[in-house]
Amino acid sequence: MAVPKKKVSKQRKRKRNGDKKAAVPTLVACPNCGDPKIPHRVCPTCGTYRGEQVIDVEAL
Ligand SMILES: [Zn+2]
Repeated sequence: MAVPKKKVSKQRKRKRNGDKKAAVPTLVACPNCGDPKIPHRVCPTCGTYRGEQVIDVEAL
């Protein structure tokens, strides 16, 4: 918010930012290789999605 820095007290700033936190990404086990992957994304390990080979992992 565009408010002069000194006008926002430490307490107010910390209260506002108190809820900010880096989200832990959700991971599921890939049904093909079993490695953890992000749901609804192509597996970065084996390159499959919904049982189909989508990307050639070896070429990357
Ligand atoms: Zn996989």
